[in-house]
Amino acid sequence: MAWAPGEHIVLREIYLGRIWAARPVVVVRDSPDVMAFWTPPGTRWQVPTTREGARLDLQPDDWVLREVPFTLGTLRLAEPGVGHSVCVFWEGEEFLAWYVNLEEPLRRAPLGFDYLDQKLDLIIHPDGLWEWKDEDHLAEAVRRGIVAADQASAIRREGERVLERYRAKDSPFSDGWERWRPDPAWTTPVLPDGWDRAPR
Ligand SMILES: [Mg+2]
Repeated sequence: MAWAPGEHIVLREIYLGRIWAARPVVVVRDSPDVMAFWTPPGTRWQVPTTREGARLDLQPDDWVLREVPFTLGTLRLAEPGVGHSVCVFWEGEEFLAWYVNLEEPLRRAPLGFDYLDQKLDLIIHPDGLWEWKDEDHLAEAVRRGIVAADQASAIRREGERVLERYRAKDSPFSDGWERWRPDPAWTTPVLPDGWDRAPR
């Protein structure tokens, strides 16, 4: 079963069998080679916080969800069974960066897809300069035993493979996605009813 373009679905992060974050998106494409999702600026999503409301990056055993707006327009490009998404960020219509999010492969769920972020990210700027983001979060997760050391190495290697694809001008970097624009008829997605039901 594939989602249709324009449908509103939810991308959820699942940790310890509970929802760690939930992001409503508009389906752009859901095909065997690429799954693309659009988050317009101002979309409200659910982020993990402490009971006092402070944002969390590392994964503790306890958290609550709080709704916040996301300010950048984001197109997320994923492939079935692959351990990263390539996000395209815009501010207004200005292309800001490729943001390589290392993550578990997306799993189909009743209202969208479930996965878990893997902390380390890679930012590739329009001029080709690039940088790791949140290496310290991954190192801290290893130190605390949340992520195994060999898994952390595999996450980093996945990022290095994506960088090779960028340097080789491979898909998705060569597909013109940075010039893509959303269908003006699309509305801001909201979380579908039942988004907070525990994963199966
Ligand atoms: Mg990430």
